[in-house]
Amino acid sequence: MSEQKTQTSTITVVKCMSCDYNAEREYKEGDYVMKVEGTCPKDGGKLYIAGIYMKEVRRK
Ligand SMILES: [Zn+2]
Repeated sequence: MSEQKTQTSTITVVKCMSCDYNAEREYKEGDYVMKVEGTCPKDGGKLYIAGIYMKEVRRK
């Protein structure tokens, strides 16, 4: 029997309100879309959560 292990990890997409900065990071408990969180490293603007999605991660 061959077993292919797949794992899903939840990714949070963070965007800046005033410039085009965006980043992805691992989902943390309490994250939700449109939550304002932190400041932008580029221009100090407010960051908000633009989306949360599941990503499949293959493990060998
Ligand atoms: Zn910014």
